[in-house]
Amino acid sequence: MSIQLFGMAVSRGVAIGRAVLVASSRVDVAHYFVTPERIETEVERLRHARDAVAGELETLKHELPDDAPAELSALLDVHLMLLHDEALTGATKHWVRERHYNAEWALSAQLEVLARQFDEMEDEYLRERKADLEQVVERMLSALARDPGDVGAVAVSPIGVRDFGGEDPLVLVANDIAPADMLQFKRSVFTGFITDVGGRTSHTAIVARSMDIPAVVGAREASRLIRPDDWVVIDGDFGVVIVDPSPIMLEEYRFRQRQSELERARLDRLRHTPAVTLDGQVVELLANIEQPQDAAAALQAGAVGVGLFRSEFLFLNRGGDLPGEDEQFEAYRAAVQAMQGLPVTIRTVDIGADKPLERMSAQELRHEHVLNPALGLRAIRWSLSEPGMFRQQLRAILRASAFGKLRILIPMVAHLVEVRAVLDALTRARQQLDAAGRAYGAVEVGAMIEVPAAALNLGPFLQHFDFVSIGTNDLIQYTLAIDRADDAVSHLFDPWHPAVLGLIAGVIERALAAGKGVSVCGEMAGDPAFTELLLAAGLRSFSMHPAQIAAIKQRILRADTRRLALALPRVLQAEDPKAAAAAVFGAGAV
Ligand code: PEP
Ligand code: MG
Repeated sequence: MSIQLFGMAVSRGVAIGRAVLVASSRVDVAHYFVTPERIETEVERLRHARDAVAGELETLKHELPDDAPAELSALLDVHLMLLHDEALTGATKHWVRERHYNAEWALSAQLEVLARQFDEMEDEYLRERKADLEQVVERMLSALARDPGDVGAVAVSPIGVRDFGGEDPLVLVANDIAPADMLQFKRSVFTGFITDVGGRTSHTAIVARSMDIPAVVGAREASRLIRPDDWVVIDGDFGVVIVDPSPIMLEEYRFRQRQSELERARLDRLRHTPAVTLDGQVVELLANIEQPQDAAAALQAGAVGVGLFRSEFLFLNRGGDLPGEDEQFEAYRAAVQAMQGLPVTIRTVDIGADKPLERMSAQELRHEHVLNPALGLRAIRWSLSEPGMFRQQLRAILRASAFGKLRILIPMVAHLVEVRAVLDALTRARQQLDAAGRAYGAVEVGAMIEVPAAALNLGPFLQHFDFVSIGTNDLIQYTLAIDRADDAVSHLFDPWHPAVLGLIAGVIERALAAGKGVSVCGEMAGDPAFTELLLAAGLRSFSMHPAQIAAIKQRILRADTRRLALALPRVLQAEDPKAAAAAVFGAGAV
């Protein structure tokens, strides 16, 4: 019977596929697809591992001292029985043959299935056999690790990358995925994903959106209720997940899937159309990227530059081994060259909060290491606490600016002392490059306005920086005191809150009055519900995931900014700005 789960819609569209469960406890197990011609070799690896473990268990049994308790021998017999049980070995082969999983992945997938069956058993003695099964699987995984096979010939690739087709589509189900791990899923075969936890503007959701695949986060219990290989529908528009859908539901969702594909194809045609409003206002549509390779998607989508390169993703997933100046320089140069003369805005690292360094989960960080990471040593605070590292990054960006138009963006600044420290670090970095005889170009330096204190006290930022970029994700988080990654309070994460809108409109107005560039690079920029409002407030530069550009452009092409600007005060002064925006900007506006 089908079941429905509800979460938060983070990435639009409908995905239908078989569930692949990635248990957080087993992320260290190698996950990759094997090519069809390697399947039998992989099955053979499983057989060898089983025989090796059988040998180990037999030896242990024979070496038991005569006075050993009889239970020990009986336990080893149970392990041997589990090892040879078709439910483990036969079914594991199925994952290899049918799904093309590598042996380790197949084994953990089958453990997942069996563990659930054990959990549901009435009999306590039988339920406790789950621990024995886990021990047997651990032994098999160790045996497989000792016999990695001819990996060079296997399609070894991070989970999800499969270079052969013809299979059922796959959707990813997990309790949580760290933003760094999400990067692995980019360019993957997954057609959608679901997590139990997370908020709409958590960095995990942001990376999902940049992949442009339907996704639902905060669908509590999803990873417990969905079984491996279940058919699942992900409705990324409404945040609904349907497990084991009925044929009628499937037909309905396939229809919606076709409709949204048609809609995308229609929007794609706007790629080369300039973003100009009905009254002739030119609007700059920029891309948010996480890696230099994303620049291709930005160009493809018709972005006129990169408004936010989240450089911290170069620092994640490396076990604490940070990229040096040359490696960073190569990455920034690659991005600027890929953009073919269009401007690229590199944000200095925003480490901390839900993007901790090392392979440490945000949850661990929250509970074990830092009291409140979102309010702690994050972004520029972290960079200024590591001055050598910060100058190294600045030197790398400055050097890359010799190859194209680069701008530097500083995250989370709030204090004048921070502004001064940033400018001093830049001066030192330039001096160091001069001394080393290294070339660098001219760069504009901007501040992200994402802490309410900076929005309320904008003067120093407008005085000392060339431009500002509003980070609405954090501005909302800090204005409303809502952890953006916490699904327990996500219903209160409200971009329409009058305090939030007042701050955003105020920053735009004052920046324009000071003759400084102003952009929005938070998720609001890519959400069509806010396009008219931001245009009305005077915004002419929006930065978003490449996949969102066409939809925003479509709204811009239909907008008349004079009419919108006249209606703005009514929205900003309203008790319920969302309802007011729908009324004054037109029915389709929200
Ligand atoms: C923001 O806070 O709006 C922003 C763009 O930065 P990030 O989402 O990376 O914190
Ligand atoms: Mg931010």
